[in-house]
Amino acid sequence: MRISTLSIGDELICGEVIDTNAAHIAKSLLERGLRVRRHMTVGDVETDIAAALNELAPQNDALIVTGGLGPTVDDVTAMAAARATGLPLVVNEEAREHLHRFLAERGTLAGGPPSDKQAMIPAEAAIIPNRVGTASGFRVSHEGCLVFFLPGVPVEMKPMLGETVLPCLLERLTLKRSVLSAYLNLFGLSEPQTDRLLDGVADERRGVRMSICVTFPWIRVTLRAEADTEAVARASLHEALDLARERLGGYVFSEGTECMDEVVAGLFRQRGMTLALAESCTGGMIARRITDVPGSSAYFLEGLVTYSNSAKTRLLGVPAELIETKGAVSAEVAAAMAAGVRAAAGSDLGLAVTGIAGPDGGSAEKPVGTVFISLAAPDGCRTERFRFGGSRSEVRIITAWTAMDWLRRYLGSVGSDRSDRSDRTATEKTLL
Ligand code: ATP
Repeated sequence: MRISTLSIGDELICGEVIDTNAAHIAKSLLERGLRVRRHMTVGDVETDIAAALNELAPQNDALIVTGGLGPTVDDVTAMAAARATGLPLVVNEEAREHLHRFLAERGTLAGGPPSDKQAMIPAEAAIIPNRVGTASGFRVSHEGCLVFFLPGVPVEMKPMLGETVLPCLLERLTLKRSVLSAYLNLFGLSEPQTDRLLDGVADERRGVRMSICVTFPWIRVTLRAEADTEAVARASLHEALDLARERLGGYVFSEGTECMDEVVAGLFRQRGMTLALAESCTGGMIARRITDVPGSSAYFLEGLVTYSNSAKTRLLGVPAELIETKGAVSAEVAAAMAAGVRAAAGSDLGLAVTGIAGPDGGSAEKPVGTVFISLAAPDGCRTERFRFGGSRSEVRIITAWTAMDWLRRYLGSVGSDRSDRSDRTATEKTLL
């Protein structure tokens, strides 16, 4: 079935309101095996809306239109529908009754009876009930295309879509398709690197599609399999997933909707280990992420923001001479911070970060974006130097992410052969 969507509203064209309706409709359709072919947005101009309807209707079997059904003068969708279809606008009794009843039930008729504008609908249109608002939706047939008109307000549009539009479309489907999706979330690779690694995973002939979405600084890979039956779609999806997992290895921190912080939290709980943090350039961002997860008090003992040299010395026991000779942003100081906070807190793990987030403070030897991360653990201390690009905010965010990823990889390797840890250098160096 060929389906397109049309969003109406000046606020959408101007970028004042983000078109979440289009996203919701597309996702809802996809979950039922239907794909939106084309999406269009037009302002509140009757002739533009009519032109869009006349362009899209002949190309589609169904068209879902949202917006412009309200009572104000800029709501002209019904008039545009009449103009495009050649049907006269008439007061629809069902829509009128709904409008009056809705307002009466809420005691909002004090200013007198409402205008019937919202009940003016092209003759022959079928009403789409609206439980949540005053504007009834409606359905007309135009150029062989079923056109559904829904209000723009998302809380009204969503139930109308789910309760009336989708069942109506599914009823008309002759060939039902199954669509299954899976998500891999990864950190430590750039978009082109991910794309190269996943070359060949998508397979159009088997109905498997792939998309890569960058949500700085991590990446979400979506795999979608479409087939006539669920069993075939499932088999194709699993095959593609296995291949993707194999290619991406330890870069995948979770599947589905689990975020990095939850993954790290789960690992701390499983391992029964405790953590203390010493942060400089991230100013507490890592502690914030750790404590964002409920129950973190079971493994997180303390986090210190040791921004000044004296704080590093006083609170973490980093020798002043070490800071003097090596600099506050150095591998030696990072290691001393990690060991210091671990000893002070009596935790299993001590993690420290020190770096130059910018925009000032860089030098030829240590440019802006230079960061040292150190993890002191029962089996030794590991420290690494990074050079992250981007703004001050980006350097801080990626530092916090890298630190979380270190924890994930370390905790994941505890009790295993630690091979996952050995490729860590390669992982993080790709972020330079
Ligand atoms: P109303 O009765 O409120 O006038 P309507 O059908 O005329 O309903 P619009 O006037 O087009 O709807 O939009 C009302 C509000 O709904 C907008 O101000 C906006 O906040 C929201 N809205 C409209 N279209 C969208 C959209 N595509 N995505 C997200 N929000 C939207």
